[in-house]
Amino acid sequence: MAEHKLEDYLAVALDLARKAGEVIKTNFFNPKKIQTKSSSADCVTETDQACEDLVIAGIKKAFPSHKIIAEESYSASGATDYNLTDEPTWCIDPLDGTSNFVHTIPFVCVSIGLIINKKSQVAVVHNPIIGETFHAIHGQGSFLNGQRLKSSTTTDITQSCLLTECGYDRVPTGVTLMLENLRNFLHERVRAVRMLGSCALNMSYVAAGRAEMYYEGKDGKAGPKPWDFAAGMLIASEAGALVSDVDGSEFTLYNGRVLVTANASIQRQAVDLLAQYLTVTAKEKEKMIKETKTAKL
Ligand code: MG
Ligand code: MG
Repeated sequence: MAEHKLEDYLAVALDLARKAGEVIKTNFFNPKKIQTKSSSADCVTETDQACEDLVIAGIKKAFPSHKIIAEESYSASGATDYNLTDEPTWCIDPLDGTSNFVHTIPFVCVSIGLIINKKSQVAVVHNPIIGETFHAIHGQGSFLNGQRLKSSTTTDITQSCLLTECGYDRVPTGVTLMLENLRNFLHERVRAVRMLGSCALNMSYVAAGRAEMYYEGKDGKAGPKPWDFAAGMLIASEAGALVSDVDGSEFTLYNGRVLVTANASIQRQAVDLLAQYLTVTAKEKEKMIKETKTAKL
């Protein structure tokens, strides 16, 4: 196998993200053919597929031995396991923010992350509509259109902006959990709450100091997936933000839960406010599992 530097991987990721971005831009204002996946809230368009095909072809050409986990191919394969090994593995979300794309809201991006030895090494999050490209290489900082990023130093929650998502979960207990969390932050008088509709952009915005916190997800089924996380988590952590599970424990790609905080003080406060994730009673958990098994998301 040919030896490559992380910079070589970044160059290919940037090139493919920009090419896929052109496809998104070209189709942004056109009528879209929409299909639904796990629920009516979870949709896909021809543009998602076209971008995924383009990025996969480019990576296969440049690095034929590398593994790929891409959203649409994975969803279509019926696979239940990501089988992440130590081999270089590209995690691709060809269009993060598909609902925004469908509704012509400009928070859309191409997200490409490269994981080696199960750690994110290279990341690109490109929003072709707004014209913002975030990138990072492990140990070398993160950047927005070439400018170095640093997460916010604000420690006062009343002066902070929270990013979160309502996700695809429409099961009543899942919706309740999401609303309970939100209520806790509002009672704590958080300044602003935004749902950008893209996990990769949410993480990148914490990196850029635009928001102090982002959390999302309940579990591996009802929560962001590796292709949503892989690039954004590196961009966030390289800007000094903390990426963890919602209880502050170590983040894993499969849990479908993430908390990104601008600094340690905000992380401590956020974990306390998200405590119901951890204190859901056994009875409620049982109900939740039962509902998730029997109902559509
Ligand atoms: Mg996505
Ligand atoms: Mg997507």
